[in-house]
Amino acid sequence: MHIGVPKEIKVHEYRVGLTPPSVREYIARGHQVTVQSGAGEGILCTDEAYIAAGAKIAASAAEIFASADMIVKVKEPQASEWPMLRTGQLLFTYLHLAPDPDQAKGLLESGCAAIAYETVTDDRGSLPLLAPMSEVAGRLSIEAAAEAMRRSEGGAGILLGGVPGVAAGRVTVLGGGVVGTHAARMAVGLGAEVTIVDRSIPRLRQLDEMFSGRIRTRYSTLDTIEHEVAIADAVIGAVLVAGASAPKLVTREMLKIMKPGSVLVDVAIDQGGCFETSKPTTHDHPTFVVDGIIHYCVANMPGAVPQTSAAALNNATLPYGLALAEKGLGALNTDTEIGRGLLAGLNIYDGKVTSEAVASSL
Ligand code: NAD
Repeated sequence: MHIGVPKEIKVHEYRVGLTPPSVREYIARGHQVTVQSGAGEGILCTDEAYIAAGAKIAASAAEIFASADMIVKVKEPQASEWPMLRTGQLLFTYLHLAPDPDQAKGLLESGCAAIAYETVTDDRGSLPLLAPMSEVAGRLSIEAAAEAMRRSEGGAGILLGGVPGVAAGRVTVLGGGVVGTHAARMAVGLGAEVTIVDRSIPRLRQLDEMFSGRIRTRYSTLDTIEHEVAIADAVIGAVLVAGASAPKLVTREMLKIMKPGSVLVDVAIDQGGCFETSKPTTHDHPTFVVDGIIHYCVANMPGAVPQTSAAALNNATLPYGLALAEKGLGALNTDTEIGRGLLAGLNIYDGKVTSEAVASSL
């Protein structure tokens, strides 16, 4: 199959659909890959690195869309890209179609078959192509908190790990899923005192075992949240209720009982945020202050570390992409975990929306 990798054009998107190591895997299996010149700039990969991996370089996106059988991207196609997609062409990327009827119309009119990373599932029902970005965001959340806690940034001036003879900082993680677990690992690694709050007792049991007593776990109630927020130096918001907006676990009222200069990092901001006072911010201006509490609410946190994010995303998408390259849409009919996952990922086919969840939102 001929795979095309256009340069991402969404503002501040530095990742790329295929990294050179992924290109090499496609080439090794007899496929052809064309990459738009400069597509790897955001992760500091030159056209020469792609050529060395076996890719051809095209000068424009138009050339790639016109010739490739499958387009592999990161972000949803932008309006200028919709008319370049063709009937029967495969599109493999993040789409987030539910809140985006204009894009849905553009893709339906193109006649392409679109598989959305965020709806591909594995046999346990988890989302394997979203998980790596949650891992990145979770780990980054502690770096963000540590930075915001510095006095020079307006924070309370507390070192997360403390020093011998001086107490470490306290981190409360709301939601012990992928983001929360990776946040906790980083905080523990820095020497902080860490509490994870979750409403799933089986999950709290797993976390308790995983961290062998190095963290505290608490069941999520109003009482627990109020208590933990009041004693924390940093609170990481990492809850998710599938298919719904994030619950507002920390109210504006609760900010009054927090320590001055403490930090709220709302990773769940892409689902509306789990603190009442959150509003989305960008990497250019990541924080703002409400009632003396610093808020960090960047909606695309992995964008800060595109080399790591693109590599992690490619590791996760590669087996699915290779299956599509091998069998085309036939890969969705194979009775394998990858086939079932891809079928769940199919959002648009033959001018129709094929995902029930997406269709009902639209
Ligand atoms: P996940 O499903 O792995 O974990 C969510 C956890 O929240 C679960 O363990 C669940 O039991 C818990 N939870 C739900 N309601 C709760 C409540 N009331 N109290 C306590 N715990 C509760 O999800 P995830 O992959 O960790 O993602 C978490 C959030 O981070 C999502 O909103 C996701 O979209 C977001 N995210 C944001 C970025 C970003 O750049 N800002 C990047 C990746 C993920």
